[in-house]
Amino acid sequence: MLILKCIQSKKILCTISNNIGALSSIRKISNAKEINVKGKYDIIIAGGGMVGCALACAMGKNPLLSQLKVLLLEGSPNKKFEFKPEYSNRVVALNGKTKSLMNSLKVWEHVENMRLQPVRYMQVWDACSDALISFSSSEIFDDDLAYIVENDVLLEAINKELKSKDVKNVEIVYGAKIGGYELAKDDSPRNIVKMSNGDNYICDLLANLK
Ligand SMILES: Cc1cc2nc3c(=O)[nH]c(=O)nc-3n(C[C@H](O)[C@H](O)[C@H](O)COP(=O)(O)OP(=O)(O)OC[C@H]3O[C@@H](n4cnc5c(N)ncnc54)[C@H](O)[C@@H]3O)c2cc1C
Repeated sequence: MLILKCIQSKKILCTISNNIGALSSIRKISNAKEINVKGKYDIIIAGGGMVGCALACAMGKNPLLSQLKVLLLEGSPNKKFEFKPEYSNRVVALNGKTKSLMNSLKVWEHVENMRLQPVRYMQVWDACSDALISFSSSEIFDDDLAYIVENDVLLEAINKELKSKDVKNVEIVYGAKIGGYELAKDDSPRNIVKMSNGDNYICDLLANLK
């Protein structure tokens, strides 16, 4: 799984709404009164897995987005990470592009300080014939082909940076179970994230990564 690819391909449900005129502002206020609005954000990221947290971290560290209020909603509780000597069997294969992204976020150094396994040679066989293809890191100027990283190690590494002092505009709510969405329409310009407990969050941009 390539985190970078995932961020690009995951469904961004709505884009920043157009200029909101006086009429729609009135509607917005009346909408906000009708429902129990817990908070209003520029961007809400639904799902704090590897991809959601990486996106939140990238947004939090981008100076161009520093004025935006970002909320990350994660359904599970905030569990303390425990680094165990045994390997976890939930792993991802990360390519050089993802490594570059993680490097730019200062996440990669945390991964290296914990645990990763470089892939230097790979052979792939065809299931129906003797055909095979092989890849070697020496063919790509001695760079590694990929890296195998445990999911929880990568998530912990991303969270270290996401929760660092470098990220000031991202709020994280754990135990926040999302029940559904009401997406922006002409007569209602904001996206509404409906929580299972009855709370609602409002945002301009919603990224569904759960
Ligand atoms: C059994 C299994 C084995 C896999 N093996 C591999 C593998 O070997 N290699 C590989 O590359 N990929 C593997 N995958 C896929 C890999 O797990 C995913 O590609 C990866 O986890 C995607 O990360 P993500 O952040 O998009 O999603 P997730 O890690 O699934 O994160 C989604 C987050 O959203 C949260 N969430 C979900 N619903 C709600 C809700 N209603 N409200 C609020 N929060 C919510 C979840 O708690 C979770 O934290 C496997 C998946 C499974 C299920």
